[in-house]
Amino acid sequence: MNTKDFSGPIHFVPGLHFSCTGCGKCCRNDWDIPVTQKKAQSIRGTELFQKKSKDGFIPLKMIDDSLVLGRRPTGGCVFLADDELCELHRDLGGDSKPLSCQIFPLNLVKTPDGLHVSLSFACPAVLAGVGLPLEETRDWVASFVEVDDDIPPLTMTSDPVSLSANCEISYSDYLELESRLLDCLDDSLCPQGLVNWACGLLESGPELENFSPLRVSSLLSEALGLLDVFGRAVVGIVELPDSHDEREDYMQALATDYAVRSNRLGIPLPSFAYYRSSSKMTRDVVLKFVRSQIAGKRLLTGPSVVSRLLAFGTGLTVLCYYIEAQARKTGTLHFSFQQMESAFTLVEENILTHSDDLEPYFDSYEEALTRMIGLS
Ligand code: SF4
Repeated sequence: MNTKDFSGPIHFVPGLHFSCTGCGKCCRNDWDIPVTQKKAQSIRGTELFQKKSKDGFIPLKMIDDSLVLGRRPTGGCVFLADDELCELHRDLGGDSKPLSCQIFPLNLVKTPDGLHVSLSFACPAVLAGVGLPLEETRDWVASFVEVDDDIPPLTMTSDPVSLSANCEISYSDYLELESRLLDCLDDSLCPQGLVNWACGLLESGPELENFSPLRVSSLLSEALGLLDVFGRAVVGIVELPDSHDEREDYMQALATDYAVRSNRLGIPLPSFAYYRSSSKMTRDVVLKFVRSQIAGKRLLTGPSVVSRLLAFGTGLTVLCYYIEAQARKTGTLHFSFQQMESAFTLVEENILTHSDDLEPYFDSYEEALTRMIGLS
């Protein structure tokens, strides 16, 4: 998409802060960073590229017909130096990096009323609320809007909006719905309340006046039964991304206390269930995250609003589960930033963003609930 499509106002989710601390964490994750042909051409022309190639690295590689940055065999970006700094940035300037790297941790969603900007909580500075208010990054964001390049992380939305697989609503009706959801969002609703909203929206269809965010849906108990199954499936995918054959057994074992270990966290896992953190600080961060996702128009980034609500409900259930698993391991109930950061990293990196492969699961979840409405 060419950036000349960027027009209209830029909206920033209030209450978020960010300044990069240079911790290098975003360069060490498992994401495939897309590189445009134009950017690849300029990277290939650098001495750094020649040196990396000579040293036996593959600085740029093809995955599914797309060019991405190469990775070190030990993990992390091929251009990440030992001092945690980006060698492309250090030697050639920030503009030499792929745009995904330049704009992290911004989430950008283009809607009929302009560009909406929120932040990824996979970044520890965002999670800790370190730095400038997000609104103060306006010039930084505007500079990306002006550059003549592709912006891979940008999500486009349309009018009308897909409320569910079978139902569309106008963008103005969506804004009205979103404001009603935000008005009654509180920490008692997260995360299973998001599943309740998905059920209520499936029941109301386009007649949104019949939808009340505070009403308990008649589908909720069936939906929570399915959340248990889909939640365990998602944990299986996060833990065994490349071992498809072992996942079914792993998922079954997650119904039993401490029958499996987390490959990601290196700890034994309790049986999968809906845990609510005893720490108010953790609950406040989860609530802030959900609010920022909704206000940042992230409910519009999936196949349907219902499917995204189910994804968020499932993702946050898994997040609370991983926080509980770590708290049980350490035997402490008090707030732990490190435990919360590990859980957010797993969930943001694998379930809520960079998760195209999980979309069919949440579509199936929506389909199953839709069938239940037809049967009731
Ligand atoms: S994870 Fe966040 S704070 Fe750390 S280097 Fe990346 S953008 Fe900066």
